[in-house]
Amino acid sequence: MEFIKNISEKAKDFGEKAKEITKRSGELLEVTKMRYEIGKLERIMVNNVEAIGELYYRKFKGEEELAAEIERLCQSTQTVEQDIANLRAQIEKLMPKAPICPNCQTELAEGAKFCHKCGSKIEEQ
Ligand SMILES: [Zn+2]
Repeated sequence: MEFIKNISEKAKDFGEKAKEITKRSGELLEVTKMRYEIGKLERIMVNNVEAIGELYYRKFKGEEELAAEIERLCQSTQTVEQDIANLRAQIEKLMPKAPICPNCQTELAEGAKFCHKCGSKIEEQ
């Protein structure tokens, strides 16, 4: 029954791979969503900084009552900046760095056995 065992082992193996791929595409979707979110937050930051600049100039020209508004806007911009940094850190965690050739530092495809540039053998990590 070695033959049947072999097939079911392969099927199991395939199942594991499929699971891994499903998990992986779920993560990629997350990363896409987070990148989209970062894009939105970056636009908010640009708008805020522009508004701060405008307010700051008006304050310079003598509109003293703007100080509190500038302070509030700076603080909310700082929060947005922190959110962007958090999202970037999460993406970093989900996207493992591509393997690098130890000889010539070329970025390699995942699971590459040899460097496509210098031909060095890549040890599995
Ligand atoms: Zn190389």
